Amino acid sequence: MPIRRRTPALLLSCLALAACATTAVVAQEPSPTLTTPDGVVLGPDDGFLPDGEHLSPHDTGQPAVANLERALLDAVQDAADAAAAEGIDVQITSGWRSAALQQALFDQAVVEHGSVEEAQRFVLSPELSQHVTGRAVDIAPYDAMDWLSRFGDDYGLCRTYANEAWHFELVTSRGGECPEPLADATAG
Ligand SMILES: [Zn+2]
Repeated sequence: MPIRRRTPALLLSCLALAACATTAVVAQEPSPTLTTPDGVVLGPDDGFLPDGEHLSPHDTGQPAVANLERALLDAVQDAADAAAAEGIDVQITSGWRSAALQQALFDQAVVEHGSVEEAQRFVLSPELSQHVTGRAVDIAPYDAMDWLSRFGDDYGLCRTYANEAWHFELVTSRGGECPEPLADATAG
C-alpha cells in the first residue's frame, strides 16, 4: 500500500513542477515590445522597457536613457554613483518615452482603472507627461527610491508625486530644497 500511494504523489509533484516551470518561463521572457490594440508595435526606440528590465543611468545606448534631458541625466548619473559608493544600486525602470508609448500606457491605464479621471492619477497623457519631454525617471529597487528621496536634493532630484515613490524629476538646484510632493499627478 505505501508503494501504491507513492506513485500518485510523485505524479502530482511532477505536475506541480511542470506548472512551476511554465510559469517561470513566462516570467523570464516578458515581451520586448508593446503592441497597441491598433496593432502598433512599440519597442526600445520608443523608450519601452519590458517588465523587470532595468537600465543603469549610464546605459546611454538605450533611448530611454539617452533621450533624457541632459541636466536630469547628469544628476541621476551623479546620484547613482554616490549611492553605489554606499552599496545602493540605482536602476531606471522607465525614462524617456515617445508620445506613442505614453499614449499606449495611458490607454492601458484607462482600461485598467475604468476612467480617464482615475487613470490620470497614475499615468498622464502624452501632452502632460514629463517622461515624454525627457524630464522624469522612474527608479528601482526600493532602497534606491528611498536613498533618492533622502539624498536626491543634493543633485536637484525630487520625488514629485506622493503616490509614486519611484518617480523623480529635476525640480530644484543641487543642494536646494525639494517642494512637498503633490498628492498625485492630478493635483496642483
Ligand atoms: Zn514616472
